[in-house]
Amino acid sequence: MSSFEGIGIEAVIVKAIEESGFEKPMPIQEQVIPYLMKEDRPDILALAQTGTGKTAAFGLPLIQKTDTHVKHIQYLILSPTRELCLQITNDLQGYSKYKSEIKIAAVFGGASIDMQIKAIKKGAQIVSATPGRLIDLIERRVVDLSSVKTVVLDEADEMLNMGFREELKSILDKTPKDKNTLLFSATMPKELLSIADKYLNDPVEITIGKRNSGAENIEHVCFMVHEKDRYLALKRIADFYPDIYGIIFCRTRRETQEVADKLLKDGYNADALYGDLSQVQRDTVMNKFRLKNIQLLVATDVAARGLDVDNLTHIINYNLPDEIYLYTHRSGRTGRAGRHGTSIIISNLKEKYRLQQIEKQINKTIKLLPVPSGKDICKKQLFHLIDKIEKVEVNDEEIDSFLPEIYKKLEWLDREELIKKFVSAEFNRFIEYYKESKDLNQPVDGRSSGKGHSESSGFTRFFINLGRIDNLKPATLIGMINDYTSIRNIEIGDIEILNNFSFFETDSDYTETVLQSFINKKYKNRQVAVEVADNKRGSGNQKKRKRQATKSSNKKNKKSGGMKRKKSKAGKKSMV
Ligand code: AMP
Repeated sequence: MSSFEGIGIEAVIVKAIEESGFEKPMPIQEQVIPYLMKEDRPDILALAQTGTGKTAAFGLPLIQKTDTHVKHIQYLILSPTRELCLQITNDLQGYSKYKSEIKIAAVFGGASIDMQIKAIKKGAQIVSATPGRLIDLIERRVVDLSSVKTVVLDEADEMLNMGFREELKSILDKTPKDKNTLLFSATMPKELLSIADKYLNDPVEITIGKRNSGAENIEHVCFMVHEKDRYLALKRIADFYPDIYGIIFCRTRRETQEVADKLLKDGYNADALYGDLSQVQRDTVMNKFRLKNIQLLVATDVAARGLDVDNLTHIINYNLPDEIYLYTHRSGRTGRAGRHGTSIIISNLKEKYRLQQIEKQINKTIKLLPVPSGKDICKKQLFHLIDKIEKVEVNDEEIDSFLPEIYKKLEWLDREELIKKFVSAEFNRFIEYYKESKDLNQPVDGRSSGKGHSESSGFTRFFINLGRIDNLKPATLIGMINDYTSIRNIEIGDIEILNNFSFFETDSDYTETVLQSFINKKYKNRQVAVEVADNKRGSGNQKKRKRQATKSSNKKNKKSGGMKRKKSKAGKKSMV
């Protein structure tokens, strides 16, 4: 087993890192540090995920090699985001805790430039920077890179994704030709390899884990559900893992906000992080998440960049990312620093091909798991509760004075009854909630999309006070339903356009949404009224037909089904 001293790290640094809990070098440190301790160090091209310990891999040798007599920039570390830039600065400050002569400056956008100028002018030997602000400071002639000995490009793929290609080139061109360059990246796209070709001189290639693959200790699982059940599946997952601490990735800002709002409304400890929050709002959410005051953070890929949290138990892909490589980034946020992590994908059958592409990229199998049933969840929650009771700390001093009265009040109950009651007090809401829960699984073999659904989830029939005299066409009505409900894939059943009014059917899981979304809407200056109609033609098990297109059945002269606001059997709301 190697030690930090064994790979050449000096005692004052070892003392500092041991105090922050490092006991022995991580694999990337064992590989990189000995190269960087050499006098004539080679360039390095390292394929490594975040969380592998790469900051210390380049940071410890840089701290040790810094010439404290010299007051100009010797080492430059470039990273894509303010958060990562600050994280690197903090880490380096920690390693150099007992080397007070070392000055490290952080240079990043969105903060006062004057403070950063001051920090550099104080004689910073190490600068941790994001590319945009660094260029600004170079142009102002505050930063001079002519004496830089080593440049580190951290999360280089992210820097390219964020559009810093030209900035990187411009910065690298201002550093000395004979400097030493270290490139760290979680993935190695072609564009990055061409930069490496141009700027790295015969580099030593180091790979921690497989090329473009996920970290070894991450398990990849998938729950296959119908499109419309995505959110229900998410809630089941959150309930099935009561101690979950993770990020839920969404594709758009809107989806992020919607999922976070729904989770909050349903009583989960969640919040959203997306691009156009102010820096202060971002910091507040991130801090709460770091402190575990938020258990589930809903985020877009861009917003989650630079969010550095080590002990996430799960990553949830609410939707798969548009670009496959982003999956590696997402999943790399769990299973860090040697811990076990799980990357969960909520998917539908149409995405099967993309799952195969991901499997190829991560070189691992994605395990297909059944969505936990209501019963599974109740069982899990019950034992979680029992566990909590077993482990709860009792504050004798505070509780002692109340106990005699409590004992007296509960005297008539024996041990078994008492346990039953205590457990039920907490547990009943889960039983209640899940008692009529449906099976959310979408069968993977066989094409049927109807199987796996509870038979009770059919269509609800609505009355609308518009008809042929208003020139209402099925296509217009479908457009209204999609627009007003904002549900992309809502399933629409039969449409009957009559003279003065019409009927339409939609997925009964969205009955309330449809009713709410038609409130206060006007059509050609007429106030629109929509109500649940009696299900005259109808059985609750009418076959569902998916109709997002403009085709409709336009049955003539069907008698009005009545306008009483009564829910059809098919319209019965699911418990979940
Ligand atoms: P990084 O990949 O640099 O973001 O590091 C991931 C996490 O691992 C950070 O929280 C580091 O503090 C931690 N870490 C780095 N090196 C070690 C080590 N040798 N022992 C224990 N933890 C470490």
